[in-house]
Amino acid sequence: MTDLRPMKPRPDPPEAALDRLTGASGRQDRLTHTEHIPSRPAQHADWPAGLRPEVLSAISATGIRQPWTHQAEAADLAISGQNVVIATGTASGKSLAYLAPVLSALLDGTEAKNGRGATGLYLAPTKALAADQLRRLGELRTAAEQAGPDAARLTRVRAAVYDGDTPFEEREWVRQYAAYVLTNPDMLHRAILPGHARWSTFLRSLRYVVIDECHTYRGVFGSHVAQVLRRLRRLCARYGSHPVFLLASATVAEPGQSAERLTGLPVAEVTEDGSPRGETVFALWEPPLTEMAGEHGAPVRRSATAEAADLLTDLVLEGTRTVVFVRSRRGAELISVIAQERLAEAAGHATARRVAAYRGGYLPEERRALERALHSGALLGLASTSALELGVDVAGLDAVLLAGYPGTRASLWQQAGRAGREGGGALAVLIARDDPLDTYLVHHPDSLFRRPVESTVLDPDNPHVLAPHLCAAAAELPLTAPGDLELFGPSAPILLPQLERRGMLRRRGENSWFWTRRERAADLVDIRGEGGTPVRVVEADTGRLLGTVDAGAAHTTVHTGAVHLHQGRSYLVRELDLEESVALVAEADPPYSTVARDTTHIAVLGTDRQEAWGDASLNFGSVEVTNQVVSFLKRRLLTGEILGETKLDLPPRTLRTRAVWWTVTEEQLEDAGFLPEELPGSAHAAEHASIGLLPLFATCDRWDIGGVSVPLHPDTGLPTVFVYDGHPGGAGFAERGFERAREWLSATLQAITSCECERGCPSCIQSPKCGNGNDPLDKQGAVRLLNLLLAGAEHPVAG
Ligand SMILES: [Zn+2]
Ligand SMILES: [Zn+2]
Repeated sequence: MTDLRPMKPRPDPPEAALDRLTGASGRQDRLTHTEHIPSRPAQHADWPAGLRPEVLSAISATGIRQPWTHQAEAADLAISGQNVVIATGTASGKSLAYLAPVLSALLDGTEAKNGRGATGLYLAPTKALAADQLRRLGELRTAAEQAGPDAARLTRVRAAVYDGDTPFEEREWVRQYAAYVLTNPDMLHRAILPGHARWSTFLRSLRYVVIDECHTYRGVFGSHVAQVLRRLRRLCARYGSHPVFLLASATVAEPGQSAERLTGLPVAEVTEDGSPRGETVFALWEPPLTEMAGEHGAPVRRSATAEAADLLTDLVLEGTRTVVFVRSRRGAELISVIAQERLAEAAGHATARRVAAYRGGYLPEERRALERALHSGALLGLASTSALELGVDVAGLDAVLLAGYPGTRASLWQQAGRAGREGGGALAVLIARDDPLDTYLVHHPDSLFRRPVESTVLDPDNPHVLAPHLCAAAAELPLTAPGDLELFGPSAPILLPQLERRGMLRRRGENSWFWTRRERAADLVDIRGEGGTPVRVVEADTGRLLGTVDAGAAHTTVHTGAVHLHQGRSYLVRELDLEESVALVAEADPPYSTVARDTTHIAVLGTDRQEAWGDASLNFGSVEVTNQVVSFLKRRLLTGEILGETKLDLPPRTLRTRAVWWTVTEEQLEDAGFLPEELPGSAHAAEHASIGLLPLFATCDRWDIGGVSVPLHPDTGLPTVFVYDGHPGGAGFAERGFERAREWLSATLQAITSCECERGCPSCIQSPKCGNGNDPLDKQGAVRLLNLLLAGAEHPVAG
């Protein structure tokens, strides 16, 4: 990173940059929408009373004279002992808003005459983030020292990271002496709570629990974390402390409600962002269709990766500092390599070297070096996985490219929010991938710009989640009724007798339950995984453990012969051994990907909610899904051409979960002139597109959910389309689908009709995970079927 070009003193206005992108080689028609998001001035307030002067002088020594309104408001609530969630934009100083009250309380504690002073616990979803937080604290301490001897008292507050990397000889010191412990929910679950006796003085003095990036606790993982926090609260109460919870979130809808579900406590919300922003020009971009043909001859769009590499090249040539966000590590590397090649041709090797790739797993020093290079302008372009979203501190970019929708509007704004230098505008471009959701979004800007971000969906009452935590809690301290039952929610009283019958818990007297087994109760569950023994992915030649795959996903992702991507590298599975729960793999780079084919049956176990849409009906309830992976296809990379099918011999698997399903009647179909042979392809196409669009309404990935469409289902006696949660017991996604069904299915219909293809393509009704090889699919039939269904939804009657 030598050969520095002189930096442009001021970035171009974002419009000019966008004009050049579209102007080059006639790309005008790829731009589907341009949104101008006006600038916002800073709003300042005064810090509330009750903060320590040492903390305030340290903060002002870092250059912050006055806090923004949301920081002051959150700090004020925290001081008054209220749980609070701050949900404001990227780089709006959320950390500082909770650090100010927490450090003040901890500093008070250093002056405690007897015993240990106040303590604080910081939880981050990743180790990297906890390490960043420690570094930020270090900067504040340095500032405190420079501010003079009084402020320097702040350095008496001892902070330490406690995670899987903390050496054993240091752990004892952290337990005994650290006032502020930075860790993650996994360590809390596996180490701190089960070993609470050794943490007793820390827990007894616990004043604040900080939960950073709390929007990442969603779905099954979020539900587990919610129960871990209930276990923490129970132990604290036993030791006599009632910590205040301070949560920081990306901008999401109803942050207070999600925070309440997560912590089980009332939480005040602060959402009015007082930090300033420059103007943002946000462009929506759709790559063109190519000459290539995919499955069933469907047209294939140019990939978002290739398109992003082109745009990055053009922006870097203009001296525009740009980050591209990509989903996979491989994608990030590909974009940086392509851009480097183009730049070398256009402007020489020195310019090519000003583009790099970034992914998770870098050492802190490497990340710091990248941050510095971006700040100084030595590096002009970076292609990154979302690892950068959590962890690396980059500010002062001119442009952000998103190669594919990141899955939620919350992530979209968080990534786009990286652009914008002080006083300058910012350019953000969302480049659509070839799937129904991305296609829908670039043609429906209102769904991005005129709709609030989604709320965080989690379901702590899921019995599959709760049961192992009841065991873990009982192992920590015997459970007693009624207090503990209230704490763990309405499923607890139903589960306890079941756990007793299964010999997991033992009851003594009427009201207490004990853990008397030998194994560690906390080992019953992996809070980031699913039920069942996870399958270990092991490198055959070296015996090195690469990672694990959830039991539920193993058959489709690591069957013998599968191409398995792990942290962006690709491996070929030599053998899946189900008895040993291990997949033996070897690193390889075959010119194809694999996709499993399966058969799925679904049985309705019970209907909880129902809504009549005219003669059609919408339902939510419990189902049992039986799935068997029967073969896999090899699909050539880039072109999508099918290279052959291989049979597999795997047993069926069953999953009890929650589903949303809709039915229409035979009469409705007849009246609408449906021919019997049109129904299977129509329902199948509607199912695929609806799975693609559900992530717009529930914060899930299309891989978190599955679907089945049946022309005549034995349980409903009608043509039925199911969409179910792919996790045992459900994760709240199907329920959200039921609640937002009208909007969800209307958006599905629009996604199909607005696609320019003739008979269906990956942008509308084809699915990359279809177990039937996308056959049969009927695009026009799906449009008619959804129209028929939604006609009755105009005046729904609750049933
Ligand atoms: Zn299409
Ligand atoms: Zn399918």
